[in-house]
Amino acid sequence: MIYDTIAAISTPLGEGGIGIVRVSGNEAINIVEKIFRSQRGVKLHEVGSHTLSLGYIVNPENGEVVDEVLISVMRKPRSYTAEDVVEINCHGGIVPLRRTLELVLRSGARLAEPGEFTKRAFLNGRIDLAQAESVIDIIRAKTDAGLDLALNQLQGKLSEKITNLRSELLEILAFVEASIDFPEEEIEELSEGELVSRCKKVKEEISKLIREADKGKVYREGLSTVIIGRPNVGKSSLLNALLKEKRAIVTDIPGTTRDIIEEIINVGGIPLRIIDTAGIRETEDVVEKMGVERSREFFAKADLVLFVLDAYTGITKEDIEIANMLRDKKAIVLINKIDLDEGRIDPAELRKLVGDKPYLKISATEEIGLEELENKILEMVFEGEVQVGEKTLVTRLRHKEALQKAQAHIMDALKSIEEGMPADLYAIDLKAAWEALGEITGETVEEDILDRIFAEFCIGK
Ligand code: GDP
Ligand code: ZN
Repeated sequence: MIYDTIAAISTPLGEGGIGIVRVSGNEAINIVEKIFRSQRGVKLHEVGSHTLSLGYIVNPENGEVVDEVLISVMRKPRSYTAEDVVEINCHGGIVPLRRTLELVLRSGARLAEPGEFTKRAFLNGRIDLAQAESVIDIIRAKTDAGLDLALNQLQGKLSEKITNLRSELLEILAFVEASIDFPEEEIEELSEGELVSRCKKVKEEISKLIREADKGKVYREGLSTVIIGRPNVGKSSLLNALLKEKRAIVTDIPGTTRDIIEEIINVGGIPLRIIDTAGIRETEDVVEKMGVERSREFFAKADLVLFVLDAYTGITKEDIEIANMLRDKKAIVLINKIDLDEGRIDPAELRKLVGDKPYLKISATEEIGLEELENKILEMVFEGEVQVGEKTLVTRLRHKEALQKAQAHIMDALKSIEEGMPADLYAIDLKAAWEALGEITGETVEEDILDRIFAEFCIGK
């Protein structure tokens, strides 16, 4: 399949050291040739693949020089899109970049849609869909662990597992179908016992992937976390203490608009997304703020609540009011200011207040107990006690749904086999499971799902 030639600015807009206009498609080299004047008289269609040429971008209509540039040519299939790709490295400013892009478009390229370069890589068979999706994760990674996970997926680790499961299913299916087509003949057959055990094994592998998908989601999206407590118990101090060492590498999430700033803290690789109330003045009386729609919403959506008490003042009426709102939330109770007083909150009193919610003694200012807090959070995540809410990217929900679909079909098949149903019946289920798995790698995915996935990218990627 041959697609038209597309172009876009592939680096963030604004001032930078360099900016790149990327062009991909069969006409990429010809198009850029029309507006490029090499310093040493080289012609782009004559240069080797993966070479750089220095020169100028020139408006062919009036000979005006737009920018001094370095041009890299990557010939198909050894390029990001597996098509001919030309990258024009401009000086970083927005004006030369825009003008260069304009000339490229006027010379015959079309402006790329968001994610279209990556979509091309998928359509041209260089990467599968799960790998394409990992590109989004790499761009958005907030912690090293999240990045590693995405890189793993880009290298095809998930795809490999899916492919193996699919070929196992296909093999089982071949036996089943042979027994339907040639019931009388002496063909190699799977005993019912073998059939059941092979199906069960596939089912278990899928269950494992579903669990991993959940874990991966925490690494990618982080836990939305709210620190609550009455004024002066030490919420801001706690946030600052956590931020001091743990601020995550990336804090902006493109494509989402938020009027409340989130801080992202790296806890053992998991991004803890904490709503920043530290900057707000102490009108942030929490009980009062709970009346405000927004904070109520945040609280309701929070995956995890850190409920701070003050060891020095002990439990007050206000603490009881807050504790009452916490009933159905996953929470860790933090008895803060333990450096001042150990004894004023006794365990029995605490149990009455928060039931069996876990608690830890800490000091935000003296940095006591913070490591224990992090360990507790990790423990709760990995034991599945705390889970990330479902407001997630379609891409990942997509994997989990496909896995669950496949799992359900295999369970149906197993049931039919064990009940001695005719083979046609469970052949259909096995086939459906095989197809559901194919959605992850993109073999059986529908066009509108593709569009939704690539719409999550930014332009130029
Ligand atoms: P917030 O209103 O809950 O955000 O509380 P702040 O973080 O502003 O803290 C209120 C006061 O308590 C400040 O003077 C802090 O320095 C103090 N504080 C917070 N945590 C501790 C702690 O662990 N030990 C001691 N001694 N003081 C603390
Ligand atoms: Zn505060």
